[in-house]
Order: sequence, then structure tokens, then C-alpha cells
Amino acid sequence: MASIFTKIANGEIPSYKIAEDEHYFAFLDINPLAKGHTLVIPKKEVDYIFDIDDELYKGLFAFAKNVAAAIEKVMPCKRIGLTVIGLEVPHAHIHLIPINSIYDMDFKQPKLQLEAGEFESIAKNIRKAYNERM
Ligand code: 5GP
Repeated sequence: MASIFTKIANGEIPSYKIAEDEHYFAFLDINPLAKGHTLVIPKKEVDYIFDIDDELYKGLFAFAKNVAAAIEKVMPCKRIGLTVIGLEVPHAHIHLIPINSIYDMDFKQPKLQLEAGEFESIAKNIRKAYNERM
């Protein structure tokens, strides 16, 4: 059965999309640690990130780099933190999180509750910055 992230990349489940190309897809995390918290996935469904073949793996990080630059441009923060956990959704993904301190990467913190309008506005701004960059 297709993973929830495959369904998101295919448009079968809605998401606040940030960027997409032939192999990769980026969208806002629905339970963000910070405004602009974004997930980057390969469209190919692989559970564990270190099982991805080398070429796709390198491309995933190159794609994430451009997404991170777009987030950094529009979300006030010191830098973009990157982490991989993958214990919840069995489809490899990179978390990109705007951070000001190490505590902003603490997944034990309560997640933000954002209205749909705020998700849409954040996604729109990051998407614009991404498209201007590419
Ligand atoms: P992990 O697998 O890295 O532990 O966590 C999975 C992440 O995916 C969590 O931060 C969670 O909020 C996010 N997530 C889970 N389901 C959905 C979903 O349906 N849509 C979006 N946008 N994010 C999701």
C-alpha cells in the first residue's frame, strides 16, 4: 500500500506544497516545531533513508539545500536545522526546521497549532522564494 507521503506527492492527500521536481517533493509538516518546518521526500518510496541508492540520496540533499535556502529567505531564524528521524512515517524524509537555538530541534516540544490560512501563507512565501531561486 502507498505511504501517506506517496499519496501526498501524488496529490491524493492535500498538503501545503513547497516544491517539486521529477524525483523529489517538499511540503510543510502538518505538526510543525516551528513555522516553516518542511519535509523533503524522494517520490520513490523507500522507508529507511540510508537504503536509498546513492544517486537519489545525493539528489535528495541537493534538492533539500535549495528548499532550505528558500525557507531561510522568508522565515526569520538563525539558520535551518536538518534532521532525519523516520520513526513515524515509513517513507524517507528530511526535516528542515527554522531554528534560533538547539531547543528548536527538540521533537519532545509541543507542536504548533496553525490555522489553514497561516499554513497557506507560509507555503506561498517559501514557494515564491524557491521559484525565484530556481
Ligand atoms: P518522523 O517519521 O520523522 O518521526 O515524523 C514524521 C513527520 O511527518 C512528523 O513530523 C509529522 O508531523 C509529519 N506528518 C505525519 N503525517 C503527515 C501528513 O499527513 N501530512 C503532513 N504534512 N505531515 C505529516
